[in-house]
Amino acid sequence: MREFLVARENIENVNVVQSEVELEPPSNVVNEFNPNEIVRDPGHRKQINEYAPDIQDQVRRAYILKGQMQPDLPSFPRTTFGSVKRSFSKSWYKNYTWLEYSEIKDAAYCFYCFLFKKPGRAEHFGFEVFTKSGYRDWKHASQGLKGHVGSHNSLHNSCVKHYDDYNNQRQSVTSKFAKATKESEELYKIRLTCSLDCSRYLIAQGMAFRGHDESSTSLNKGNFREMVDWVKSQNEQVRDAFDRGGKNCTMTCGDIQKELATCCAHEVTKVIMEDLGDRQFSVLIDESRDISVKEQMAVMLRFLNDKGNVVERFISLHQSH
Ligand SMILES: [Zn+2]
Repeated sequence: MREFLVARENIENVNVVQSEVELEPPSNVVNEFNPNEIVRDPGHRKQINEYAPDIQDQVRRAYILKGQMQPDLPSFPRTTFGSVKRSFSKSWYKNYTWLEYSEIKDAAYCFYCFLFKKPGRAEHFGFEVFTKSGYRDWKHASQGLKGHVGSHNSLHNSCVKHYDDYNNQRQSVTSKFAKATKESEELYKIRLTCSLDCSRYLIAQGMAFRGHDESSTSLNKGNFREMVDWVKSQNEQVRDAFDRGGKNCTMTCGDIQKELATCCAHEVTKVIMEDLGDRQFSVLIDESRDISVKEQMAVMLRFLNDKGNVVERFISLHQSH
């Protein structure tokens, strides 16, 4: 049995390409993420797979917003290689946009691989150096950095592709959403303006809004709806706004008619009050019965306006019991 037990380091050093097995996620998975707590130094970051799968996207987004960590230090620590002292060079940032530098570990990292590497694969191909432990071989840096990029179908380049796709996808969704929102907002404004204009006319003429039968098959849907239909038949833009404007937001239902009338009443009252200012006034109250034998009480104000004319302004109608 003993001959089958091989020391762990011997297994890890075996230089063979192993099958692509996804590693088990780490046991101490983080379930919550606060974008303000992202760690800028790549040497001290948690790996993406150390976060719970449902928040990994949120973590990526936060890091992408911050961008690569490329500190512009006046000098970088020097390490002796043989007889020569060498250090990280900030000129590498220019050629390698993905390059990050950790001041804590004095090591180089790859931003794109950190964001999009597949943990199982990365370990087999030595990619952990640029995402976890950090690259410090300054003597062979020019080959090391080029080697990390590799051919067009390398793991690094697949991470770059993921990064680009991720950005494009976000941009296209954001722009589509913004476009749809702006367009529907404009259509909504057209419908609202039409309904408001009809309300104003009916209020000014003292005409009833509602009809007995306001269904789409009705021959007379009441003054408000008939008037909206008339505006639609005269104006293509309005017709289009109603046709494309969502079934739940046509701005013509009974509740909306009442709300529009109430808004108009508020505005009119405001103007009357401004007219009245701090002048003296008298209140006229008159009661009468309507057709259903309910007492209605009308309230009016009577005052002198700026031009010295006596004006009477209707304020409201109350139902008295
Ligand atoms: Zn990389």
